[in-house]
Amino acid sequence: MSSITLTQVTKVFVSKPVVDKVSLDVTSGEFLVLLGPSGCGKSTLLRMLAGLESLTSGEIYLGQRRVDALPPSARDMAFVFQSYALYPHMTVRRNMSFPLIMRQFKWWFHIPIIGHLAKRRIEASPEVSAMVDRTARILALTDMLDRYPRTLSGGQRQRVALGRAMVRQPEVFLMDEPLSNLDAKLRSSMRAEIIKLHRKLGGTFVYVTHDQIEAMTMGTRIVMMREGVVQQVGTPRDIYANPANTFVARFIGTPAMNLLLARMDAPQGQLEVGDQKFALPAHLASVTVGGSQDVLLGIRPNSLAVVDPQDKRGLAGTVSLVEHIGADSIITIKLDSVKTAHEGDSESDASDEIMLTKSGYSNLSAGSRVGVMMNLDNASIFSASSGQRISTDLSVTCPVDFKN
Ligand code: ADP
Ligand code: MG
Repeated sequence: MSSITLTQVTKVFVSKPVVDKVSLDVTSGEFLVLLGPSGCGKSTLLRMLAGLESLTSGEIYLGQRRVDALPPSARDMAFVFQSYALYPHMTVRRNMSFPLIMRQFKWWFHIPIIGHLAKRRIEASPEVSAMVDRTARILALTDMLDRYPRTLSGGQRQRVALGRAMVRQPEVFLMDEPLSNLDAKLRSSMRAEIIKLHRKLGGTFVYVTHDQIEAMTMGTRIVMMREGVVQQVGTPRDIYANPANTFVARFIGTPAMNLLLARMDAPQGQLEVGDQKFALPAHLASVTVGGSQDVLLGIRPNSLAVVDPQDKRGLAGTVSLVEHIGADSIITIKLDSVKTAHEGDSESDASDEIMLTKSGYSNLSAGSRVGVMMNLDNASIFSASSGQRISTDLSVTCPVDFKN
């Protein structure tokens, strides 16, 4: 096992930094997830860790050892790609033995018949075959060792790719969206497989994904990235409860967190939303910003409830869409007098709609007049100008679902 330290790691492509001064400590044995939208620099960062991409500036340490100038083979890290990158003309056994064969590589392995025999010999050697057999058992591939990749399903191929990484017994596993080529059902079962594998092997995992569900379920910690810059590092629970800014707030959780334009008067302990005034709950009241200011009230869909349109406690609005997704319903509502902010399309100001989730089947339909009641216990407050969090952290133990 080994820790990884990144200091000010930067990669510039054509004068534009795609990874910008990333500093991180990856603890030995942890499952760290790099999360962010497509193009934010996740793969580039992972490839720099692996040694497949050079650094423009910065340093990378594996334990105490500086590795950023070392070739991939000297770093003791195994890489699993999104495309399984298996050798199609080799059996599963040969694909999995391959890294161990290459460890003993001699130039004359290139000579056709002699090379072939030499590779066969290494593959059949007690150490190599025992390692491959043991790994195949862990991954339930024992019955497939003599088959070729084309005869395997996507999930089986991805297990072979994992096996090929495992036989090397690396200190660090690097995985770049390894599940994104699989269909939804297989993806969730492979997710569980990889979590179990991490527990069993105990190595350090760095896992890249753009899928927040994968990040939330698999990571011991999440590194949230945007345009090459780290936005927040934290446990899934902490990032969900205390997003550092509106970008993180909207990226984590489905449906996304609602951002309502509001005015906060901290000295008065009040929050003005539309035509209503609310008392700031304890965790928001302790914010020590002077005077009153425009803010974005971040509130998750499960902290909103539909009430009677006449109910004075609610914000009035009209239902625009009801989606039934089995156990829950998602209800989209256009509020009469509250503006909302949408990350990325602030100009278009598409809708001023909010979304809330309700357990069970909702009898509402488009056009219904409703009131929306807010539970501010788990709400976040962001600066309307910078988008940065200004409310204090919620105690991470408190979040409670507010289901109606
Ligand atoms: P992600 O994995 O998060 O989707 P990448 O790390 O693949 O993002 O890419 C980050 C940015 O760097 C993208 O804008 C991409 O176009 C750019 N990029 C990646 N590789 C190269 C390259 N070899 N040359 C120039 N630009 C690149
Ligand atoms: Mg990528």
